[in-house]
Amino acid sequence: MSVLTAPSAAPAAPPTPVAKPTLAGLSRERLQQSLIGAGVPEKQSRMRVNQLWRWLYVSGVTRFDDMTDVSKDLRAQLADQFTLDRPEIVSEQVSVDGTRKWLLRLPKRGHEARAPEVETVYIPESDRGTLCISSQVGCTLNCSFCHTGTQRLVRNLDAAEIVGQILLARDRIGDWPGAPLPENAQNLPVSDRKITNIVLMGMGEPLYNFDNVKEAMAIAADGEGLSVSKRRITLSTSGVVPEIARWGGDTGTMLAISLHATRDDLRDELVPINKKYPISELLKACRDYPGLSNAKRITFEYVMLKGVNDSAADAKALVRLLAGIPAKINLIPFNPWPGSKYECSDWETIERFAEIVNKAGYASPVRTPRGRDILAACGQLKSASEKLRASQRSAAVALD
Ligand code: SAH
Ligand code: SF4
Repeated sequence: MSVLTAPSAAPAAPPTPVAKPTLAGLSRERLQQSLIGAGVPEKQSRMRVNQLWRWLYVSGVTRFDDMTDVSKDLRAQLADQFTLDRPEIVSEQVSVDGTRKWLLRLPKRGHEARAPEVETVYIPESDRGTLCISSQVGCTLNCSFCHTGTQRLVRNLDAAEIVGQILLARDRIGDWPGAPLPENAQNLPVSDRKITNIVLMGMGEPLYNFDNVKEAMAIAADGEGLSVSKRRITLSTSGVVPEIARWGGDTGTMLAISLHATRDDLRDELVPINKKYPISELLKACRDYPGLSNAKRITFEYVMLKGVNDSAADAKALVRLLAGIPAKINLIPFNPWPGSKYECSDWETIERFAEIVNKAGYASPVRTPRGRDILAACGQLKSASEKLRASQRSAAVALD
């Protein structure tokens, strides 16, 4: 007869260390709340926020010890409770054309099975540098030509995670005062500032994460900090019509519209949010965009899909449709991704399309694809781990 013994109590698991929150990417209000929460007297807190603001957003320091006008005691107290961490870099790729793409891992939230990932892309030109940032992990919309659209929405980024992308990019390309140039410094712009422009054209639909994106862009545009003028910030939307006027009124940034088709039947297919907000409503919102003028035009993005939306008749229809709106047209050669069902229009077709658009008075419309070799071009972004799971899925299907 065997004797059953009660299993001895397992040793208590050591408590999981709670990660310290980062101060990098916070607004003035949140910084102040954090400082007060950490014991900084309320009447000192505003002055401390101003100090921290400059260290975070003008100097870009990553260590409290570098904040030389903050007392040693306070630095220690802050370091005890906070970090200055940016989002964690999973990988960094540098294209032959100098475009850089970072895959970033964000801290896991309570209910999430795994840490979510997003991508940020930096596109240098000779006299400017554009940072393309993500606002959501995945996207709820399913534009049929977009890689991100095949990834379900995991979550919205918070404002600090959005600003964190700017800080991290500036770290990596040596874009802080006195910072050394990075390895692979080829193709960086000659301008003092290496990130001169921000486009919300990475993963996600920014107007579906309105408050966080707004808070982040206010930090980016703050003249005593990161100082990216709102005229150099462009939000791209697939057409969330009710939010367009609110965004313009609240922030004053530039606007880009992912138009891609001139007829509702085709746009319903390419950009399915069109079923909810058809072209006529979208263009009305554009006409009413606050501050619109010839000096502040809306950019209409138009992806060139072979045999789908690239005929001369389409070009003429586009010109007719936009008549009277201060507009720029950006023709985007379709960037293929594994499994995409479209092809990019032939170069001659794009040129013919561009010529019609040019003749109607819209200048230099073709967007040169950048970073294609590292899948960093428009619409190719998708978390690498998600890609892996998708390829595992298709491998599994192939084996069935
Ligand atoms: N969700 C927003 C912003 C992110 S997409 C929006 O849709 O506007 C940024 C731009 O890339 C959009 O104009 C989008 O339509 C375009 N795009 C998406 N997939 C693309 C692809 N495979 N090739 C070229 N452009 C693409
Ligand atoms: Fe989402 Fe924009 Fe891609 Fe459409 S194009 S699926 S809105 S990220």
